[in-house]
Amino acid sequence: MTLPASSTACAGNNGLDHWSIRELGQQLAKRELTSREIIESSLTAISSRDSRIGAFLHVDGDRALAAAQASDERRAAGQALGPLDGITISIKDAICEVGQPATCGSRMLKGYISPYSATAIERLLAAGAIPLGRANLDEFAMGSSSENSAYQLTHNPWDLDRTPGGSSSGSAASVAARMVPGSLGSDTGGSIRQPASLCGVVGLKPTYGRVSRYGLVAFASSLEQIGPFSLDVYGAAALLQAMAGHDPHDATSVNEPVDDYLSKLDEPLKDLRIGLPQEYFGEGLDSEVRRIVEQAIEVYRSQGATLVPIELPHSKYSVATYYIVAPSEASSNLARFDGIHYGYRSPEFTDLESLYANSRGEAFGPEVKRRIMLGTYALSAGYADKYYVKALQIRRLIRQDFDDAFQKCDLIAGPVTPTPAFKLGELVDDPLAMYLSDIYTIAANLAGIPAISVPAGWTASGLPVGLQLQSPVFTEAKLLRAARMLEITSPWIGRLPPTLS
Ligand code: GLN
Repeated sequence: MTLPASSTACAGNNGLDHWSIRELGQQLAKRELTSREIIESSLTAISSRDSRIGAFLHVDGDRALAAAQASDERRAAGQALGPLDGITISIKDAICEVGQPATCGSRMLKGYISPYSATAIERLLAAGAIPLGRANLDEFAMGSSSENSAYQLTHNPWDLDRTPGGSSSGSAASVAARMVPGSLGSDTGGSIRQPASLCGVVGLKPTYGRVSRYGLVAFASSLEQIGPFSLDVYGAAALLQAMAGHDPHDATSVNEPVDDYLSKLDEPLKDLRIGLPQEYFGEGLDSEVRRIVEQAIEVYRSQGATLVPIELPHSKYSVATYYIVAPSEASSNLARFDGIHYGYRSPEFTDLESLYANSRGEAFGPEVKRRIMLGTYALSAGYADKYYVKALQIRRLIRQDFDDAFQKCDLIAGPVTPTPAFKLGELVDDPLAMYLSDIYTIAANLAGIPAISVPAGWTASGLPVGLQLQSPVFTEAKLLRAARMLEITSPWIGRLPPTLS
């Protein structure tokens, strides 16, 4: 087995865990590495690091080793399934996998075992990928820091005192800490892109309808998508390739042909017009984040892209709009967790109503309760027109802003988050400040367009910062190629979090 030079610094793990999905795939294809070695390497990394990181809620090593053996046998027989065959990933604990827990980071689903698998997982298994464990998240994917998980905090591998972001906290941290080379998360308002940015990995939210939501425990059904995390753009492209496409089990999945995301990935895009929304570079943007994002944009300019000033005039309403639409949908989606249909049942009850009230009161955390109350209020008779219907009208205008902007540019570039990773504990008592950290990410969910966070640089104190690229619906192939253009010029894959040893 040969190891790339960049991978030799890792203690006790042969450096395997620094490899991206692309590098692992190449080594597997050359038969210089086995899937079993990948799984063993991941398990070693988890046992030496995860007590400090807190990315995993559950690890199923035996099942993964059995899958690795099957993968190695396929490969030996000349029947390897493609670029993901034998490669391990973590799964956000809100995406169902048969026989595995799916706590959604909530006491409500403690002990729940999924009776079926999400379509996204079925497709990854069919491509030979190997789920290794369940990744921590903010309860029911509501949050931006991991602090809303009922089980544990997840720490940012670049600075253990800081948040990895959320709600797909464990997914991002498990990749950044080189415990797995890829992961699945979900993004309702930024929950893939924000943790990807804060952890220095790639994270992609696909177009609404591109990846089936069947088997993703619903928070806000009209906003969310399952999407990939990985160390490299290639990994995100390969994971999306395996998952994308129509699914009869999800009426909102779209029957559009799936592009080939991999074959032209390394070819730079020509005549690229990059839109720069003035609203994304105004007040509230940290100066180091601004500098790093501007440097990344300069990379595109130096490769021949034209920079086009654009306006997204309704983006200032996106936080308010999202925090009406998402809680409204959540209040409806979470009604099923009542101690009878699903979830924890309180031992204290005298009648049906007290069973419902006590079960929900004891098992939901404060942020989930806050969202249910906000959403119930926004949908209630007499208020729905003023709040929910109004929010839907503004949502349409936000989409219109993007449609207008994409007349003038191919992609929109900007920051993912206003600041680098904040300290755990810093925002947790101030929900509004926490909501404001979603300011650049939630418009893509309201509009349904795809968006990616790709590492763009590091602050002086060593915290990663991502660049966000957004593009028209179903143009993930272009988005990934654009992200790859930045990746090629900035070889950040070799940069390791200081906490890994
Ligand atoms: N931070 C946002 C929220 O709390 C986004 C969550 C998500 O994308 N799941 O709702």
